Amino acid sequence: MRHRIIIIEDEADIVEMVRYNFRKEGFEIESFSRGREGLERLRRNPPDLLLLDIMLPDEDGFSICRQLRADPRLKELPVIFLTARGEEIDRIVGLEIGADDYVVKPFSPRELIARVRAILRRRVRPVEPADVIEIRGLRLDARTQEVTVRGNPVELSPLEFKLLHFLASHPRQVFSRERLLDEVWGRDYAVTPRTVDVHIRRLREKIEAQPDNPEYIGTVRGAGYRLLAEAPQEV
Ligand code: CA
Repeated sequence: MRHRIIIIEDEADIVEMVRYNFRKEGFEIESFSRGREGLERLRRNPPDLLLLDIMLPDEDGFSICRQLRADPRLKELPVIFLTARGEEIDRIVGLEIGADDYVVKPFSPRELIARVRAILRRRVRPVEPADVIEIRGLRLDARTQEVTVRGNPVELSPLEFKLLHFLASHPRQVFSRERLLDEVWGRDYAVTPRTVDVHIRRLREKIEAQPDNPEYIGTVRGAGYRLLAEAPQEV
């Protein structure tokens, strides 16, 4: 899979050099010269990694990085700062802003690519975007949004699909209602944790042979929900 990189940098020469070299190495790259546009794009469509200049015409790189770290969907996004000055380095190295690495201008594209690769390699991806997930007869296809249970198609709403896909992407892991709201609904929606229960119930009615005795979506009392990787024991 091609990795997608976003660079926010107002120096055209650097952007050009980075675009050229990263494309040559098989990366997808998007560039923004202003912080606010870049941030908007990051929120709409998070990349695999961000290259972030510090001195930008509108908002500085530190402030952008802080906003990312406060956003549940972007707080894990790897950030490499592109920095020019010693005092900037001191602040990055302090790392209270949560950068993953930095390079000092002028840098060689080869060095930057090596650092990007190192970070992407060691990073644990929160969501592995597999196209098709199959767990004990439950099959989800992210490309077509189709779901089948033992070969029988099931009609899900886009939100139900998203919820099921999120759970199925992390089998066995327990997610609280709040976390599911963040991951599936996003923070903008005025919904309560009860909303999650309602949707889980609807999902079970659609995919479970016995919704009261689920074989796929398990309840973990006091903690939340998870996708059961193994069939529950017969009682
Ligand atoms: Ca700059």
